[in-house]
Amino acid sequence: MMSELHINLSESLKSKPASDALGFGKYFSDHMFIMDYSSEDGWHDARIIPYGPISLDPSAMVLHYGQEVFEGMKAYRTPLGEIAMFRPDMNLKRLNNSCERISIPQVDTEFVLEAIAQLVRIDQEWIPDGEENALYIRPFIIATEAALGVRASKQYMLMVILSPVGAYYPEGIHPVSIYVEEQYVRAVRGGTGEAKTSGNYASGIKAQEIAKTKGFSQVLWLDGKQHKYIEEVGSMNVFFKVNGEILTPALTGSILQGVTRDSVITLLREWGYTVVERVISIEELFEASRQGLLEEAFGTGTAAVISPIGSLSWGDKNTEISGGVTGELSQRLYDSITGIQRGKLADPFNWVYTV
Ligand code: PMP
Repeated sequence: MMSELHINLSESLKSKPASDALGFGKYFSDHMFIMDYSSEDGWHDARIIPYGPISLDPSAMVLHYGQEVFEGMKAYRTPLGEIAMFRPDMNLKRLNNSCERISIPQVDTEFVLEAIAQLVRIDQEWIPDGEENALYIRPFIIATEAALGVRASKQYMLMVILSPVGAYYPEGIHPVSIYVEEQYVRAVRGGTGEAKTSGNYASGIKAQEIAKTKGFSQVLWLDGKQHKYIEEVGSMNVFFKVNGEILTPALTGSILQGVTRDSVITLLREWGYTVVERVISIEELFEASRQGLLEEAFGTGTAAVISPIGSLSWGDKNTEISGGVTGELSQRLYDSITGIQRGKLADPFNWVYTV
């Protein structure tokens, strides 16, 4: 495969936003990485160029049939001044898994990781100061062939853009209220839920909006067939502590395999907890809650790391969890993972990749 990376630096750098008002995904750094694919040449023309709009033919296939995949990860500045990324190999492996599902050609993950590292090094001034801030990295691939007709595109573009982001919860982690969605579903077995592809997110927006208007932060997704079994919470994987044991939905094909999910399972097992990956019905969960056995619930994902669930609302039933405050285990996981990510704690599993 290709090994050359061309670099064309920007002549006018943008001014950077204040590190206490970043929000999420509002600002973008000075450069971006692009490489093209054609069926004749494979992946080629890898380049880092000034950040800016791209030109697409209006018939570009991604605009009509949604052949797209993406990833999300973060870079941090460690106390020693190094740049760290968290398990980027897992994200790139998942990128290829997503590509496989959407019939997009595989990428050379080592080459793309090195290109991302180079981009982050070039734009390292964009890694924001501040305890909870980070540089969010968004790789994505779009089908660019100019043609209508439902089939795999013969041309693609892989891009990586960088966005300085603030704490997901500026006031610190706090429990959120969740609406159990019974009508709409995020994904079905045999569908694309396991892939990180744009259509999954488009199909989830309506339910998310309805939950918001009802005063909830996010939705709890149930399975697409019976609307009985718990899948994910918003754009996060979900965990429950029930009577001392940790439960999380098994990866049955419609759930995204989260990097944070894997890290949480590894840490919990290391700490001596029993972690069970299995199907969990919403009924079972509410019954555990009724018996006083539902001790904690939380979502896991790159953006928020750990997001405690303070209450669940399912039809006319409501349940409050951990008295509406952040549970001890949720807090311990948050502190441990963010500590490892930011180079403040030891890294016993070699999760940190120094850029
Ligand atoms: N589920 C969905 C649907 C997601 O979009 C994400 C975010 N990538 C996750 C789970 C959590 O994955 P990760 O821990 O790798 O961020």
